[in-house]
Amino acid sequence: MRKLRIAAFMPHPDDMEGHVGGTLLKYVQQGHHVDVVVAADGRRGRGILPEDLTWQEIVALRKEEAIRGASYLGITPTFLDIEDHRLVDDRECYETVINEMERINPDVVFTTSPDDYHNDHRAISRLVLNTSWAPVFFADTKVSVNFIPDFYVDITQQFETKVKMLGEHVSQLKPGWEEIIHTVNRLRGMQCMKEEIKYAEGYKVFKRLSWVKAYELLPEDSFEVNTQIVPTTERN
Ligand SMILES: [Zn+2]
Repeated sequence: MRKLRIAAFMPHPDDMEGHVGGTLLKYVQQGHHVDVVVAADGRRGRGILPEDLTWQEIVALRKEEAIRGASYLGITPTFLDIEDHRLVDDRECYETVINEMERINPDVVFTTSPDDYHNDHRAISRLVLNTSWAPVFFADTKVSVNFIPDFYVDITQQFETKVKMLGEHVSQLKPGWEEIIHTVNRLRGMQCMKEEIKYAEGYKVFKRLSWVKAYELLPEDSFEVNTQIVPTTERN
């Protein structure tokens, strides 16, 4: 496969790791170039924080955590510094996102689902669709609600590092986070129906014109759903 330029436009400082961390690791390991863009500043994200921090201190802390998380990919994220809960599909945010999209000029783009639980997650999804002519893959939603993947990326070899990456977001981690990430990625792995695939990340592709070839832009050796042709007499 030719070397690709991958862009992940994610809403909050801790979203890259949980939603697409394993896939991005795999791209990097296969020699592709990865850019991570963090749209919102994380000032309103709840979690474990000392009570007397100003919002500026919270933003600075969350940037440090995002930089540590992305360091496993060998990169530093770009921060768009849009205020949390003010990330909306408006002209100002559009200009900010399209400028970054044009700077990166990606071959393939990852973002959150337009059906995800958080308004900032839905907004960046819309903004990415409106500014990218490259194929766009939507990541699994929070705890997989309202999401049936089109494609799966086998992250069995990357899962342990993905957990470490997410673990860098100390100020955002809530009790049970490891069980959630394990369960969601294990479920997606089980859906691949291959014993050797323990963990996977699931994606939907935005079905623009010519979308069917978009599968070829996922990391090499990603799981392709087998077409099962079974004679009628052998069914069940
Ligand atoms: Zn988020």
